[in-house]
Amino acid sequence: MHGGLGAGVGILFVWFTHAAAGTEELDLNRVGETSDVYGYKVLLVNTLHSAPEGVAIGTAMVVSPTFGIFVAIAMAVHNIPEATALSAVLRVRGVRLDNAAGLAVVTNITQVLLAIVSYAIVSAAPGALPWALGFAVGALIYLVMAELLPESYHQAGHTTIALVTVVAMGIVVLLGGFQP
Ligand SMILES: [Zn+2]
Repeated sequence: MHGGLGAGVGILFVWFTHAAAGTEELDLNRVGETSDVYGYKVLLVNTLHSAPEGVAIGTAMVVSPTFGIFVAIAMAVHNIPEATALSAVLRVRGVRLDNAAGLAVVTNITQVLLAIVSYAIVSAAPGALPWALGFAVGALIYLVMAELLPESYHQAGHTTIALVTVVAMGIVVLLGGFQP
């Protein structure tokens, strides 16, 4: 029950931050775009996007250290393509390579920060666990549907995306069988 409510809060969080930043329909990998506003918005979206990822890491750590490390590794791996895409966008806009890479790392600070904060809060108040887990699940699923999948359709065909999504969902379901 609380998990479901937490998921609702997570979805609202992502929806609200996009609405407040005016980035609901923003393409995250437009390399030909020249306006300054676009560059700042891409940085902002990446920074906000890292926040629920941090909550997922911190909360998973409370569930069990093994689960936490697993989620942290998954996030670290996925940060690489995300940082590469962001650096590419910044590079075309004339940002030097070292600065672009630095900015890509800085946008992940919210991930580290929220991981620590949610770990501290949920360990101190175990009643918050279903809320935090729900929040992370809701926010991340919504992120996938609102940010990642629409981007993917610029790069790959419908069938490829459908296959990758189904395989990924299958892996998640299988992993659910191995309770930490
Ligand atoms: Zn991400």
